[in-house]
Amino acid sequence: MTLREMVDSSRRIVFFGGAGVSTESGIPDFRSEDGLYRQKYDVSPETMLSSDYFYSHTEEFYRFYRDKMLPLDAQPNAAHKKLAEWEREGKLLAVVTQNIDGLHQKAGSKRVYELHGSVHRNTCLKCGKKFSAEYIARGTGVPRCGCGGVIKPDVVLYGEMLDDATVIGAIDAIRHADMLIVAGTSLTVYPAAGFVNDYRGDRLVLINRDATPLDGRCDLVIHGKVGEVLGGL
Ligand code: NAD
Repeated sequence: MTLREMVDSSRRIVFFGGAGVSTESGIPDFRSEDGLYRQKYDVSPETMLSSDYFYSHTEEFYRFYRDKMLPLDAQPNAAHKKLAEWEREGKLLAVVTQNIDGLHQKAGSKRVYELHGSVHRNTCLKCGKKFSAEYIARGTGVPRCGCGGVIKPDVVLYGEMLDDATVIGAIDAIRHADMLIVAGTSLTVYPAAGFVNDYRGDRLVLINRDATPLDGRCDLVIHGKVGEVLGGL
């Protein structure tokens, strides 16, 4: 079956994506050749995006975070838009994403499980007050609440646990999918990458620029750009 035939005959598509879904919106991923991990920093991005670093070097964390993780003017690309369209048409159950950029919602998707949280939610560690991403982007230094507390993005940093309700919802959607499209992810960040193993159907499709550990197990593998591939359907 071709991708188009699979999509046309499916009613409960689930999409599982990663940073590669947003590269066509101008947001660099982590592990590609032009990804963030190949750029030179004194401290590695894994360290800077860890929970330990956030609490011990809050100011340096925010310098990196504002510079690299808050591309608030980025717009959804053809992949985000196609998924939102499928949901409106009643063919897509859910988007499960490792991304934190909020572009699926910006494209109109409603049921989005954000495994690693979102830059669009930020919480005062002292009083729990919520803040927008724009509030964080506008400021300098460590963002603080009116009560004096430090504000933390609701992003799952290395060393932190995923949110239980989000994990349960994502796994439930994957188990109920009649087609699972995995795209734009190196499938190396756990536990998120392991969730694709919960799919039990016979339409497992991978759309990724580079090879992944899942390629050999898929019913269809397309090495290409996800925006171009989905946008062309
Ligand atoms: P990754 O950087 O490890 O891997 C990205 C994968 O996407 C690579 O295999 C690459 O070949 C592929 N890719 C890049 N552009 C593509 C395109 N246009 N079409 C198809 N494939 C493409 O990303 P990951 O597996 O998601 O893991 C990185 C972690 O960092 C995740 O938690 C991720 O969400 C987070 N992150 C998020 C953003 C974001 O929110 N936009 C950006 C960078 C990193």
